Amino acid sequence: MPELPEVETLLRGLKKRVLGRWLGAVDVRHPQVIAGSPDEFSRQISGRQILGARRKGKAIAIELGLRTREDGGEKRYLLVRLGMTGQFTVNPVAEPLEPHTHVRLGLDGGKEELRYVDARRFGRLRSLAGEELEKLFGGMGPDAPRITESQFQKALSNRRTPLKSWLMNQQFLSGVGNIYADESLYIARLNPLIEAGQLSARQSRRLLRALKHVLERAVELQGTSFRDYIDIEGRPGNFLPQLRVCRRCRQPIERVVISGRSSHFCPHCQPQPRHRTRRAKAKRLARS
Ligand SMILES: [Zn+2]
Repeated sequence: MPELPEVETLLRGLKKRVLGRWLGAVDVRHPQVIAGSPDEFSRQISGRQILGARRKGKAIAIELGLRTREDGGEKRYLLVRLGMTGQFTVNPVAEPLEPHTHVRLGLDGGKEELRYVDARRFGRLRSLAGEELEKLFGGMGPDAPRITESQFQKALSNRRTPLKSWLMNQQFLSGVGNIYADESLYIARLNPLIEAGQLSARQSRRLLRALKHVLERAVELQGTSFRDYIDIEGRPGNFLPQLRVCRRCRQPIERVVISGRSSHFCPHCQPQPRHRTRRAKAKRLARS
């Protein structure tokens, strides 16, 4: 599943390959991956110049320039969310289509095109006006790699949700998925069930440092897969969830379900808080 580092990698690739180019014909082959009317989508974005691209959390907004006055003289934004299996690539038009190619966006010159491929079709492409985009991005918490220490502490304060759920709640922080949340908590030696609002200033600094470190490393490795990162760290097997023992202390890794998601942690290195709440206790019992 593409997470923030994969999306950041896509963003950098897009900037390199398509910035300044013009979109030609838009061919929607499967309407399910378009949010709203596919016809309107095609009409709104075709024939515009790609002026920029930015990311918030796991969403990318591609800025499309003005066309003619009949369009209302308004810029549009192409919002890309990859969902579970989405891929956005630049291909020669002559290249045979991969299975599950749902959208083709022609590029100027006519020799290349952008293709959206998505086997499971949870991803979405959407055309937005500027104010719609601002509203959408504004409703998301600060982007994880860019959040400041004081924003981070402020967002944590008084929150009674377990740290793990807090990290993954896109209203507090955007872009953190399951594996990066687990890995950050592991590096910061914090139990996923600790109430977010109960972290000391020191612990929250430690967590933020761990989070940024994990995300930066993954972006450096182009997010190709988190496994590469693991391998470079010399860890056996796949990612932490598949590890049976802690790589620090060799104790068995425990699994607990928090907000419906599997969390993996080392009970020795990430001990339960001493004054944990009843709610957290109850959730701990739900461990499978
Ligand atoms: Zn351990």
